[in-house]
Amino acid sequence: MSEPSKPQRVIPIQPLYAAEPKVYPRSVQGLFQRWRWVFVWLTQLVFYGLCWLPWNGRQAVLFDLDARRFYVFDFVLWPQDTIYLAVLLVLSALALFLFTTVAGRLWCGYTCPQTVYTEIFLWIERKVEGDRPKRIKLDAAPWSAGKLATKGTKHLLWFLVSLWTGFTFVGYFTPIRELAQAVLALSPGGWETFWILFYAGATYGNAGFMREQMCKYICPYAQFQFVMFDPDTLIVAYDEKRGEPRGGRSKKTDAGGKGLGDCIDCSICVQVCPTGIDIRDGLQLECIGCAACIDACDQVMDKMDYPRGLIRYSTENAVKQQFARAAILRRTVRPRVLVYSAVFLLLLGATAWSLATRVPLKVDVQRDRAALATETADGAIENTFRLQLINASEQSRTYRIGVAGLDGIHLAQPVEVRVAAAAAASATAQVRVEPGSAASGPHPVRFTVSDAADPSVTVSEEAKFWIP
Ligand code: SF4
Ligand code: SF4
Repeated sequence: MSEPSKPQRVIPIQPLYAAEPKVYPRSVQGLFQRWRWVFVWLTQLVFYGLCWLPWNGRQAVLFDLDARRFYVFDFVLWPQDTIYLAVLLVLSALALFLFTTVAGRLWCGYTCPQTVYTEIFLWIERKVEGDRPKRIKLDAAPWSAGKLATKGTKHLLWFLVSLWTGFTFVGYFTPIRELAQAVLALSPGGWETFWILFYAGATYGNAGFMREQMCKYICPYAQFQFVMFDPDTLIVAYDEKRGEPRGGRSKKTDAGGKGLGDCIDCSICVQVCPTGIDIRDGLQLECIGCAACIDACDQVMDKMDYPRGLIRYSTENAVKQQFARAAILRRTVRPRVLVYSAVFLLLLGATAWSLATRVPLKVDVQRDRAALATETADGAIENTFRLQLINASEQSRTYRIGVAGLDGIHLAQPVEVRVAAAAAASATAQVRVEPGSAASGPHPVRFTVSDAADPSVTVSEEAKFWIP
């Protein structure tokens, strides 16, 4: 008799990506929407404009990768200045911790490039296709010449904005005026073309299609910033005590008599949300703190003659314990905020001091490796050194080289080197001492390189003088 076959276990297949309904954010007016546009203008004026700003006869901000030089207004930074980049990263991280602990996701809601470009693309979308109901209807409609023309216009405008954004981005890495001429002559270089198209494609894809998905699934900052939240962090909050039980009604309804809260369940706050969530479900990872729902709900409250602020910027503690604004502000000062602020200000001050007192000259001294030491015709001991000088200023300079550190140490002949603005040059220095001026072996000596016209530009560098 054959054994009964075992029942097969069916393992349900879980897709890695669950398709979500498309979000059609409805347009909204109000205080925070105006602030969002202020930040769109500010950030975009800086981004699109700064690369065209001339400074000292060149571009004010240029990260010239070819020449391995970064120009930031008066500063010319070389690869040797990578320390400033490291400090900048640490400062940004500290600022992020501090800002997020105090103000939650204000960065995401107002200045993050993803938000800003989505806002611009949505504006174009609304101008071409109309507000939410029209866009939903258009998407549901079958393809026709009219739909094709409307969609085509939108995509063309998106594409132009994206292309301009890609061009501007590359203009921070290659002089933008030269790039513009090359593009107009249809002859930009290979890598310029690649990065313009790459950045344009990223803008087009992120702001046109990915939108809230970037914030929900891809942005690392969104994923870890909740670790920095505490109950006194600023959030967009729905006042559940005041709003519930929710329910539809007319303006004349006696809500108190019917036991209703202030939320009329109109769902406008959900319709304006760029990430498509319902803030009434509580604080969620998807909430970028943009306050569109605050503006929308305030308008509803105005129409109903209810006080504004059913949805408002507040803190978890403040909503639970109904704190007044003064109490919320007072609770901003708490130990972790003080620690972040102190470390941030200390590091910022040290960096500012270091930049302000930075000498625009870098010197590297290497001893000639061919011979440790030689004896000259008159019996002196000679070591040969090679000095690499970087003039990090924007004027050409003549440098004089001196040496000290051993009895009677001197240069065989004076060395003067002219180095062009923001350029490097090398010089050879033959250094001599009389025999017997020190024991045999290596001895520390100090080279001094000074601008002949401006002694405040002086740099000292140690080297070893070898006595056989
Ligand atoms: S907009 Fe205000 S009243 Fe309308 S559903 Fe949202 S919270 Fe309720
Ligand atoms: S819930 Fe409100 S604040 Fe959060 S993303 Fe949506 S609209 Fe913006």
